[in-house]
Amino acid sequence: MSFRRFDRLFVQEQSFMNTNIMDELISIFGKDNVLTDMEDMIAYSYDASHFEILPEAVVFARTTEQISSLMHLACREHIAVTPRGQGSGLSGGSIPLRQGIVLVMDKMTRIIDFDPANRLITVEAGLTTSEIDKAVSSANLFYPPDPGSVGFSTIGGNVAENAGGLRGLKYGVTKDYVKMLKVVLPQGDIVHLGSKCVKHVAGFNVEGLFVGSEGLLGIITEITLALLPIPEHRESALAIFESLDDAARTVADIIAVGVTPSTLEFMDNTTINAIQNFKDCGLPRDAEAVLLIETDGERHSAKAEMAKVEEQVRKNKVKIFQQAKDTNERDRLFEGRRVALNALAGVKPNLILEDATVVRSKLPEMVKGITDIASRHKIMVGIFGHAGDGNLHPTFLIDKSDKEEMIRTDQAVRELFQLAIDLGGTISGEHGIGLEKKPFLENQIGRETLNLLRTIKGALDPANLLNPGKMFDMQDTTS
Ligand SMILES: Cc1cc2nc3c(=O)[nH]c(=O)nc-3n(C[C@H](O)[C@H](O)[C@H](O)COP(=O)(O)OP(=O)(O)OC[C@H]3O[C@@H](n4cnc5c(N)ncnc54)[C@H](O)[C@@H]3O)c2cc1C
Repeated sequence: MSFRRFDRLFVQEQSFMNTNIMDELISIFGKDNVLTDMEDMIAYSYDASHFEILPEAVVFARTTEQISSLMHLACREHIAVTPRGQGSGLSGGSIPLRQGIVLVMDKMTRIIDFDPANRLITVEAGLTTSEIDKAVSSANLFYPPDPGSVGFSTIGGNVAENAGGLRGLKYGVTKDYVKMLKVVLPQGDIVHLGSKCVKHVAGFNVEGLFVGSEGLLGIITEITLALLPIPEHRESALAIFESLDDAARTVADIIAVGVTPSTLEFMDNTTINAIQNFKDCGLPRDAEAVLLIETDGERHSAKAEMAKVEEQVRKNKVKIFQQAKDTNERDRLFEGRRVALNALAGVKPNLILEDATVVRSKLPEMVKGITDIASRHKIMVGIFGHAGDGNLHPTFLIDKSDKEEMIRTDQAVRELFQLAIDLGGTISGEHGIGLEKKPFLENQIGRETLNLLRTIKGALDPANLLNPGKMFDMQDTTS
């Protein structure tokens, strides 16, 4: 079966859909919340990755109980169900590989409880992540994980992918903020996991198991998140370098002197030029690399940390070091980074965005390795990303209609993953495995660990109906 995007859409010959099942879906969700028309199926056949498969029905949930009823029906009739937030995933997680039903969560957007005294908020899973900050900022609180997709991805999707973001270096990722989950298990049971308490050791840390589970183990319907006080002050700066190596070394040096910036982002020359072609953000086209740096905290400590950053930047032969004087200047400095992916998307007809990650000290080797791989295979690559936490986004700029280039790209991606593993890193820092990296998971975690994942999936979903075929196959297909 072919499911690469731009290939013919895969259509199953025998549909599970019959009048009785349609009637039952309508009785659970209501007529307006069940779609089967071809144009609607096309709209839910893809996400932000390269895959495209038509579902047979799309349903929009508004309550946990509806989802429980759906899973009872799915188990009885043996129908695959694929949860979906906003479909912004980059690894194909919400693609309905076995067709069946796509369960869309983006109408479950209620804020159930805001508890500023305990710095907690409980929300439904379909709420857009940025809405959380809007809801809590008046109490001087914020929700730190800020994926680039913060304005459109759902918090449920963030939990299912354990999303990271620009502030990951200092503030961690989604898993560091999940306190409680309400989950519908594959066989329809509803469970409450975790606790609001700072300390809680009653039973296994099961809520942790569902963070990053990519919709394979259960459908997350409600989430209680920890919040932090908004830092009093931020210092922001842009550092422009003539060599990639100098920039990469600066990242390692900043951390080595004990500074933990809240943001430490990297962009290479290809990315800088793509940005300037897309929108003039004032970046010099001849710069080999740019770092965007932010420190935060109490005013004096944010300033003292930025002074230490400046020392390291100058030690590594910075060409220009520019500090923002106010919020407007800060926004302008950060504008380029915000549009980087859109800008790179305009360079060639297609792109493949990866998220291989290494420990920070290996960053210079990683950057050099990526540029070597790209030049060996004659593929254009733009590198940008969260350098402070070793999480780069090497972005291969390609034309999928060029079959020969695609063969070279596949090989380059393989070599990229191997490079990350050889340097002691990981094939995915934040986008997950889904379909995109499924063939490479065993190489990363080993067969025994992969079999442990299969055992957990088999225990919770013995009929393999929830997002089947993602991350790994239930059968070991390699022996
Ligand atoms: C421009 C752009 C920038 C991005 N930047 C970042 C970034 O900085 N950091 C980062 O980590 N990611 C980033 N992403 C990737 C993506 O936005 C995240 O993975 C996000 O968490 C996906 O959320 P979603 O609501 O779109 O989920 P979807 O893509 O719809 O689904 C993702 C996975 O989660 C599962 N799922 C969704 N909702 C639920 C639920 N309620 N219960 C159980 N399973 C569920 C799906 O089955 C699927 O496997 C970016 C994507 C884009 C397009």
